[in-house]
Amino acid sequence: MSLSKRNAVVTGSTSGIGLAYARALAKEGANVVINGLGAASDIEKERAAIETEFGVTCLYDAADMLKPAEITGMIANAEAKLGSVDILVNNAGIQYVSPIEDFPVEKWDQIIGVDLSSAFHTIRAAALGMKARKWGRIINTASAHSRVASPFKAAYVAAKHGIAGLNKVVALELAAYGVTSNCISPGYVWTPLVEKQIPDTMKARNLTREQVIHDVLLEAQPTKEFVTVEQVAALAVFLCSDAASQITGANISMDGGWTAG
Ligand code: NAD
Repeated sequence: MSLSKRNAVVTGSTSGIGLAYARALAKEGANVVINGLGAASDIEKERAAIETEFGVTCLYDAADMLKPAEITGMIANAEAKLGSVDILVNNAGIQYVSPIEDFPVEKWDQIIGVDLSSAFHTIRAAALGMKARKWGRIINTASAHSRVASPFKAAYVAAKHGIAGLNKVVALELAAYGVTSNCISPGYVWTPLVEKQIPDTMKARNLTREQVIHDVLLEAQPTKEFVTVEQVAALAVFLCSDAASQITGANISMDGGWTAG
């Protein structure tokens, strides 16, 4: 197992892509801190399953990615309980779909907070330890929307373009310390986040559910297939390997060709 002795924090890992990252890193032997919202009993089930299936330590931290003090506390707790944070995966994300003139101001603030600012806070807190130990892997889940826009997603597209910029700055600052920082930019991955935006997209564009799936979501993706959470997680595991030590500041697409066009 390539990542035994490494400790990872994955934000937004009670569901979807984040849970797949946590499980894939644990499968490689890393201890993992999972984080995110959800029913306590469901989260405990996932946490315990990671420990028993992969024989690692898995902790849950309930830090709200909208609260800087809780985010900093999560990194400090992970360092105190596990000894270090070697792998940081910024993944928590939310979406809201609305024409710009109706876009609720509080939704803008929340999306910028969870999808962008939380990564600033985690990296800010974890960088010192990574630099001191001369090893670290920072992985940011960006999106095809870090490269291109779609209508009605003002806050999300702004946040994802923002994290692509943050990623480059962090990569430059930490390059000489054995710490890499990269974005993974999936196209549409079938997760609760995608499923939840279907009703609003139906309303915003006056379409049926089937039309949203085939004419809006998969329309963008030349392969006409959703990306799987396991594929995204496998790329993260690769980015944590020694083979990937010279990949930094990159924004790697996994979008079925979406942004090639
Ligand atoms: P998801 O809804 O399944 O998971 C989102 C996670 O973030 C959950 O664990 C949730 O609890 C957590 N979260 C939300 N608000 C939080 C908060 N305030 N504090 C702590 N945790 C919070 O969604 P997903 O599709 O797995 O998305 C994960 C990431 O991947 C997001 O950054 C998203 O933008 C990105 N992404 C998703 C897709 C896709 O098609 N699903 C495509 C590109 C990028």
